Amino acid sequence: MSGFKTKKKSIAAKRGAKGKKGFYITTAIPYVNASPHIGHALEFVQTDAIARFQKLAGKDVFFTTGADENSLKNVQAAELRGITTQQLCDQNSELFREFAGKIGASNTVFLRSSSKREHWPGVQRLWKLCVKRRDVYKKKYRGLYCVGCEAFYKESELVNGLCPEHKRKPDVVEEENYFFRLSRYQRRLAKLIESGELKVLPEAHRKEALAFVKSGLEDFSISRSVARAKGWGVPVPGDSSQIIYVWFDALGVYLTGIGYGTDEAKFKKWWPADMHVIGKGITRFHIIYWPAMLLSAGLPVPKSVFVHGYVTVEGQKMSKSLGNVVDPVALMDEYGADVVRYYLLNEIPTFEDGDFSEARLIEKTNNELIANFGNFVYRVLSFLKANFNSVVPKAGKLGKDDSALLKKIEETKTAVSKSMEDYKLQDALHAALELAAEGNRYFQKKQPWETIKSNKRDCDTTLYVSVNVVRALATLFWPFLPFSSEALWKQLGIKDKIDVFENVGKKRLESGHKLGEIAPLFRKIEVMEEKNMQAKKKVEKKAEKKVEAKVEMKSEKPVIPFNEFQKLDLRIGRVESAEPVPNSNNLLRLIVDFGDQKLQAVSGIARWYKPEDIVGREYMFMLNLERKKFMGVESQCMIFAAEEEDGVPVLLVPEKQVKPGSWVH
Ligand SMILES: [Zn+2]
Repeated sequence: MSGFKTKKKSIAAKRGAKGKKGFYITTAIPYVNASPHIGHALEFVQTDAIARFQKLAGKDVFFTTGADENSLKNVQAAELRGITTQQLCDQNSELFREFAGKIGASNTVFLRSSSKREHWPGVQRLWKLCVKRRDVYKKKYRGLYCVGCEAFYKESELVNGLCPEHKRKPDVVEEENYFFRLSRYQRRLAKLIESGELKVLPEAHRKEALAFVKSGLEDFSISRSVARAKGWGVPVPGDSSQIIYVWFDALGVYLTGIGYGTDEAKFKKWWPADMHVIGKGITRFHIIYWPAMLLSAGLPVPKSVFVHGYVTVEGQKMSKSLGNVVDPVALMDEYGADVVRYYLLNEIPTFEDGDFSEARLIEKTNNELIANFGNFVYRVLSFLKANFNSVVPKAGKLGKDDSALLKKIEETKTAVSKSMEDYKLQDALHAALELAAEGNRYFQKKQPWETIKSNKRDCDTTLYVSVNVVRALATLFWPFLPFSSEALWKQLGIKDKIDVFENVGKKRLESGHKLGEIAPLFRKIEVMEEKNMQAKKKVEKKAEKKVEAKVEMKSEKPVIPFNEFQKLDLRIGRVESAEPVPNSNNLLRLIVDFGDQKLQAVSGIARWYKPEDIVGREYMFMLNLERKKFMGVESQCMIFAAEEEDGVPVLLVPEKQVKPGSWVH
């Protein structure tokens, strides 16, 4: 105990001794068994906005991210693709590195957990320190393991026998593993969380973690057999039969990213972390396991954990089986990184779940980002270019409106700063936008295009005030929209790097300052949908004219011409999974495999068919029926059933097994 305290004090002293205060922040270290999705984008953008704000606040910032590569999932994914695990990790971690750059993450390092030089020594040292503290012991273990989570579950934690995160059956694993004596840290963890020494944001997650700690902590497995790990991962020091458990190792990136095990001076400068930014699915690892491991090793615990929510897509949980995974890189290629950053920071409440919708992104870009911020900035700069040869004029006597707007800059600076100190990113961005809106209103009211003819002095003042609002906006937006801010800074003709927060409103562009080349910061997104719809209707009308109904038949329904019938996309699909739709006693949600694609069907058969009756079997489906939502769940295809006299549905099955995706004629 006392040893730990002394050590902590000395580290804190070293860190404070430097003139500039430091700030160490991390993202969770993403698994790289697939490419980045929109959820990663949210985490990276939130982390980056905080990191950039801290820089503006005058701090020295270190930002660690990287790739969690030592997981079993990577071994399996590589096997499926017929390449080595190393090859897979090389490819996938590169996707993440590129993604981080593209989205404008200002990370200091990108550390791969497969790095034998930079990562392994630190993790092995952490292990040895926990062993020394007698917190590591060997035990035969039998448990339910979800490869998706890389974690063991208790029977009671499963939902209908399935992993609550992945909705799949965990594997039964039996082997001898090393365990970490977490139970020993219950009291100290409770105290850390309760006292706020380890701050958890938001409050709901703090409460949840505290309740979990108080309910009693069990020791957890921190290694696996070399056989099960297929030899992939960091070896347990002194035991060649075991590999360090993926979480013990991945969490270690937070230490090794700043030199733990390789560069002691650097490590001492930055540790403990000021903030770990994580998703809500991994709170237990960060708020409980991780601090306990650090306490065991005699290291200070992180100061805070920031927990963000999940991103749904068009109201649905994002999943590969639904085929609705949003690729943030494609999105950035289409719309630009700042547009994506703007959406994630502005639309999604900072600590809550939020929804992604491309239509909403377009709407927000055009109606908020461009109409407000982009428009104001371009109006001011282009007016200066056209009428003042891009030179800032000298202000006359300030009127009421002029002073009010200059004062608003100060107020906005305070509001943004306050929100960012509380990590309320959405509120901070709203405050910055409000200044741009105020600038727009001011410009409109002052009508410089009139006063330039009638009252030149007043016009000069308006432009002087306006261009200085633009200057303030460039700094205020930098944590959120760094690419646009930096472009704007250049357009303002300022040579130095972007201003620190302190200077916002204080430093001004004075008369005689020459602006740089100007250009609109954003381009309006054209909505093509309407045009496509019109074209489609024309084609359909033509087809209708060709209709010739000659067949006579007995039916209450109208005769369908052959070419109309041909429009039906009928296929055989294999039901891959089925589950009840929440709050409905008749709807089942099916994921159906059609060979080249998977679609979701919502079907009113739950009273007659149980999921296990239909999973794994083939049925007939229609794929191009208008999509419709039932109880909020979208049905993307329709299953066929015959109806018995009493209304009981009987599903139609092919006479013998056919390949999923086969056409039905
Ligand atoms: Zn899972």
